Amino acid sequence: MAPKRDYYEVLGVPRNASPEEIKKAYRRLAKKYHPDLNPENKEEATEKFKEISEAYEVLMDPEKRALYDRYGHEGLSGAFKQGNFTWEDFTHFSDLEDILGDLFGGGSLFDFFFGTGRRGERREYRRRPQGEPGSNIKVVLPLTLREIAEGVTKEIKLRKYVVCPHCNGTGGKTEICPTCGGTGQVRRTQRHIFGEFVSVSTCPTCRGSGEIVKEPCKYCHGEGRIKKEKKIKVKIPPGVSKGNYITLRGEGHAGRRGGPPGDIIVLIDEKKDNTFIRDGFNIILNLPISFKTAVLGGDVEIPTLNGRKTIHIPPGTQSGHKIHLKGEGIKFMNGYGRGDLIVQVNVYTPRRVSGKAKKLLEELDSLLEKPPGFK
Ligand SMILES: [Zn+2]
Ligand SMILES: [Zn+2]
Repeated sequence: MAPKRDYYEVLGVPRNASPEEIKKAYRRLAKKYHPDLNPENKEEATEKFKEISEAYEVLMDPEKRALYDRYGHEGLSGAFKQGNFTWEDFTHFSDLEDILGDLFGGGSLFDFFFGTGRRGERREYRRRPQGEPGSNIKVVLPLTLREIAEGVTKEIKLRKYVVCPHCNGTGGKTEICPTCGGTGQVRRTQRHIFGEFVSVSTCPTCRGSGEIVKEPCKYCHGEGRIKKEKKIKVKIPPGVSKGNYITLRGEGHAGRRGGPPGDIIVLIDEKKDNTFIRDGFNIILNLPISFKTAVLGGDVEIPTLNGRKTIHIPPGTQSGHKIHLKGEGIKFMNGYGRGDLIVQVNVYTPRRVSGKAKKLLEELDSLLEKPPGFK
């Protein structure tokens, strides 16, 4: 197979092309390469037509385009249902209908792509009908600060639809849906004073699968899927925060009767930590010290993310003084390096003082340096 060409090159647009420019380029090329307009070299035109449609699909989708810009073709392996682009992934049929409508005259484009008998010779274009897609599952995953600091692999238990093992998702013995003739879609032509409109929608009889169940599977009652308890592992990189999410493609509910599965969306939540306050990749520890330690200095044992550590408080330390412990914070998302542990020192003022202490303190105070006044 020839190496894949650059999408921008395929459509002949600059890398910063606007959606309008991309649309314009596609419009021009679609008319040029449409197989029906190239009867003498149909095969080549068919390939070209698919190539420009793939490029159009990617560059018109901001998410896919961003992936492509960053990682090239490799970045898109998860973006297409079968790993690489097929007509099933194409979401701009209405644009095509727009572009080519006048060439084919009222709606025949859909016969071209999804047609059953009339244009049977072009079956390679026929969309493979699929059952109803499964829905996504949202899971909220609360993480401790320590889990966030290092990254963690978590196991999620959930009940979800899985493909029925008895009928392999078919729902039982099937036959071609009489309503849509197996395409999974129905076309409706509506006359209107402005002209004729063709709308295409999912077949209501088979809900898009193209087949109806004649003898339903006893196990799943014709659904093609059953509910099951499942354990799913999810790897969380370090440094995530509340509101981040991780998508597990295809791990959601199985589709009805062989439909494509949904995704699991893992939403990150942060559990409150009793010791540390998170500040980006840094963590803050509020450390109360005694008046004596503040004045004379001394060693104090503090908690860290993975144990304990002794730090030195220098003599004459003021409340609010910060001590940075480099690299004792949260690991960066890329795994290289970490934030800091910032110890914020506060001089603890005793609330209850005995008579003796009070007397000594007053005596001591007369001997000590006074706090600076405002100038
Ligand atoms: Zn079944
Ligand atoms: Zn149908």
